[in-house]
Amino acid sequence: MRGKLTNIFKATPENIWNYKQNHPLYNKNRSEKDRENISKGMKGIPKTKEHKQKLSKVNIGKKDSLETKQKKSKAHKGKKQKILKCPYCGKEGGTTMHRWHFENCKFKKDINNE
Ligand SMILES: [Zn+2]
Repeated sequence: MRGKLTNIFKATPENIWNYKQNHPLYNKNRSEKDRENISKGMKGIPKTKEHKQKLSKVNIGKKDSLETKQKKSKAHKGKKQKILKCPYCGKEGGTTMHRWHFENCKFKKDINNE
C-alpha cells in the first residue's frame, strides 16, 4: 500500500507523463484566483539547485508545437528591436549584443587595465 502511494506521487522525468495524467487537475485549468494564490505562496521562496536541475530536465528535448510556434512568432512580428550601443567599443545592434558587448566587451578589459 505504501509503495503504491509513493509511485503515484513521485514525479521523475521518466514517469512525469503518467504523473500528469493521474493528477486530478489533468487537462483542467485552475481558476484565475487559484493561480494567483499559488503564485503568491511560491513567490520569494528560492529554488534549490537540485530543484532547478529537475525543472530544466523535464523540458530537455521538448519541441514547441506548431501552434505555440505561431503564437510566439505573432507576438514578436512588427515589433522593432531596440538598437543598443555598446559603451566600450561603440558598436550598435539588437539584444544579442549582450553576448559579446556591454559587460562582456573585449574593449572593457582594455579600459580597466589602463
Ligand atoms: Zn563592445
